Amino acid sequence: MNDAAAQPDFSKGAAWVRGRYVPIADATIPLTDWGFLRSDATYDVVTVWDGAFFRLDAHLQRFAASCAHFRLNPGRSNEELAEVLTQCVRLSGLKRAYVEMIVTRGQPSWGSRDPREAVNQFYAFAVPYVWIANEAQRERGLHLRISDVPRIPSSSVDARAKNYHWHDLTQGLLGALDEGADTVVLGDGAGHIVEGPGFNVFAVDAAGAIVTPSSGILEGITRRTVIEIAQTLGLALQQRALPAAELRAAREVFITSSAGGVLPVTQVDGRPVGDGRIGAVTRRVTQTYWDWHKDPRYSRAVDYMAGA
Ligand code: PLP
Repeated sequence: MNDAAAQPDFSKGAAWVRGRYVPIADATIPLTDWGFLRSDATYDVVTVWDGAFFRLDAHLQRFAASCAHFRLNPGRSNEELAEVLTQCVRLSGLKRAYVEMIVTRGQPSWGSRDPREAVNQFYAFAVPYVWIANEAQRERGLHLRISDVPRIPSSSVDARAKNYHWHDLTQGLLGALDEGADTVVLGDGAGHIVEGPGFNVFAVDAAGAIVTPSSGILEGITRRTVIEIAQTLGLALQQRALPAAELRAAREVFITSSAGGVLPVTQVDGRPVGDGRIGAVTRRVTQTYWDWHKDPRYSRAVDYMAGA
């Protein structure tokens, strides 16, 4: 075996696992970590686009707030976290990446059921950029179902703290896929739309005003970006309860996520949204979203050569 053959292959992604960088295929956590056994973890996802992080500071801030909410501790400053994330990207060499940071509860001593005794564990990884919608779906617009599975109430698990309590979202998604839709949005059980599996929702009404749910949601960084874009472009935007009937009657609908940015929706519950084509507001907001990736206010270049 020559030296080159012995080098770890990070080309499919790199991870930080308990003090070591490993290829993504070798990134594992112990079976007994409560992050696995109880979904007792928090996380955040930031992206790298054309060699630069997009809104890394906002993601780190939200991650810190999620950690505080669940009483989880990554054991590192934001700058130290940023360095681990950057090194994962650097090792992978990926110019467009999906970068996840995670803190799990860890595991208390054997027999103990006291979460305070657990040593929290920090994990991170960078893999190729992930899209919620494939290319064909992005071109024609997503077909969305409104599920009758209500989202876990925020009084039980606060949706503002990013978490892996996804059974409601997955159940709703399976139902929507079975019915031939592409994805799903859940409600609050009282007739209002909240969010979908990994994304926030926006509707544009007949007067051109944009509406997005204000509560029961993860306050997405992409959602925040769209709110700021609307301000910049002088578009009216309201954050308030969004009745399901209003989403069904909307002139345009789009969803937002770090995994794909602003994504058009052209069918809701089997009926066309507006004239069934991607609308002008959606196109404008999408264009600005990608333009802002080159804006130094939001982007932080990855130094791929540092330490090489
Ligand atoms: N809502 C949920 C439940 C999510 O998991 C996510 C992202 O993963 C979002 C919304 C969108 O958040 P962001 O725009 O920060 O990716």
